Amino acid sequence: MTLGDWTVHAVESGYLWLDGGSMFGSVPKPLWSRTNPPDERNRIRLAMRCLLLVGHGRRVLVDVGLGDKLSEKLRDIYRVEDTPRLEQSLAALGLAPGDVTDVVLTHLHFDHAGGATARHAEGLRPRLPAARWYVQRRNWENAHAANLRERASYMPENYDALAEAGVLEFWDGPQQPWPGVEILTAEGHTRGQQLVRIEGGGRSVYFVADLIPTAAHVRIPYVMGYDMAAIETMQEKAALLARAVAEGGWICLEHDPETAFARPVAEGEDFGWAERVPASASTLAPSGTHGAG
Ligand SMILES: [Zn+2]
Repeated sequence: MTLGDWTVHAVESGYLWLDGGSMFGSVPKPLWSRTNPPDERNRIRLAMRCLLLVGHGRRVLVDVGLGDKLSEKLRDIYRVEDTPRLEQSLAALGLAPGDVTDVVLTHLHFDHAGGATARHAEGLRPRLPAARWYVQRRNWENAHAANLRERASYMPENYDALAEAGVLEFWDGPQQPWPGVEILTAEGHTRGQQLVRIEGGGRSVYFVADLIPTAAHVRIPYVMGYDMAAIETMQEKAALLARAVAEGGWICLEHDPETAFARPVAEGEDFGWAERVPASASTLAPSGTHGAG
């Protein structure tokens, strides 16, 4: 997908399976299981899709998947699928890990930031060796004073080594770090989550992380049980979707196993999708023949 000076690629980094009830909060199972069928342990399959922005002399990655440091026990609990790895997906685009110049971490939950560090003989090191990393200060502070409900999702081994290596920068609130790139904040899922909007050539794409994790979550009341503040999520989601609809923008869905990008449309007081780009198509034709915008 091309937006002015930016080319945008979906970059897959494997899958994990999370409890379907937790993913859909108060939505009854007969509804969510139609689109997201659970396995024998009631888990649904979720992608860990990253977004790569190439332009202005930069190669910017948004989120990095869960990486390869999880224990066997947690790999079983989350039914982790390693294929494709982030390195494989970058290689398919002709990039080595050292080619990534910047990484925006939407938030520090393990399925978004676990891939930020890797174990080496000398200890934990940033996994993308040339990158600078960006997180909201509020989320960093939240991760280091994690409440009991979120504590299992915040693992210091995933991000403390970034600060120790001197490659982590903190952002306070909305930013415009590069031409056509806007950082938005959303507080309902976790405190200090940040989202990315890319604009160019009359088109826009939003990377919405856990604000709209799968295609089914386009419905305003479809809020994850994991969220800290359901009402805030609903307000933030409605505002973002209204803005995207008004400009004909696209949404990149980080966790949807089937759909990589979709274009929202208003449906009465709620929202739906006008158009979807399957994950396989976006992988095969990342430079965008999908007629976005
Ligand atoms: Zn999260």
